[in-house]
Amino acid sequence: MKIRQILFKQPDPAWYCAPTIPTTDSVELQYLGTAGFVIRHPERTIVLDPYLSRPDFKTTLTKPLQPNTALIQKIIPHADDVLIGHAHYDHILDAPDLCKQTGARLIGSRATKMVGLAAGLPEAQLVETNGREDIASGTWTVRGLPSIHGKALFGKVPLAGDITEPPPWPPRFHQLKHGLVLNWVVDTRGLKIVHIDSADFLNDELAGQSADVVCLCAIGRKHRPNYVRDVVRLLQPKWIVPCHWDTMITPLEDTPDLLPDVQLAEFLQEIRDAGCEPMLVPILGKLHFPRQR
Ligand SMILES: [Zn+2]
Repeated sequence: MKIRQILFKQPDPAWYCAPTIPTTDSVELQYLGTAGFVIRHPERTIVLDPYLSRPDFKTTLTKPLQPNTALIQKIIPHADDVLIGHAHYDHILDAPDLCKQTGARLIGSRATKMVGLAAGLPEAQLVETNGREDIASGTWTVRGLPSIHGKALFGKVPLAGDITEPPPWPPRFHQLKHGLVLNWVVDTRGLKIVHIDSADFLNDELAGQSADVVCLCAIGRKHRPNYVRDVVRLLQPKWIVPCHWDTMITPLEDTPDLLPDVQLAEFLQEIRDAGCEPMLVPILGKLHFPRQR
């Protein structure tokens, strides 16, 4: 048995939701591990927080982090826009490479823009936002809601601060501070997806918004009281897709390990108790959601 399997538990396959059936107009949502997703439809492909390279623990701590270009190309051959919730390495490392390969725009905070510049992306592919503005994405609209990062490391925000000039590239993990945190609303015209990629959010920013699907950071319930209940009360989603439940240090196509204190089964139950349907999928698993038009 590998030491990993002694230290970490793996998800119980019984927790995964039943397969969803694609229709001609459904929107596909593919989970990439950590907080990463691809939203696919013939009209548009939008990627959120892609982190496929997943170097192991020792490499993450000791070396500059190299995006795995071939793997990024294999998993996400096409993208129109790449949205970043915050600029920590496990949310942004692979984004500039993906934009280079596909020509997609990199959209996010100033910190996100600095990372794009560091990696050599041209200005024309960079869109900086402070949130609270609608950004056209083809016929769809995306909007960042200002948010805050969870106190996810011994009661403190890890790697706090902003990135105000291009960091070294490739970066070491600690050189990527979170910058402005944004919760993304992706309006596909008939299906609204909200992405909450950290263990906290601002009630006032979510109030007045609505969602059909929320991609929700599973470790969040450890770090914020009423995490699930408040999201459901404010956004009234029908479905919640848990993310950020794996350790992020296993190779993408291996069986993932659970974060030691994530309590995923309890998270799923809390979602059900709040009146929503949890849609847990394995890494690279795909879901299909209908558009109401
Ligand atoms: Zn983070």
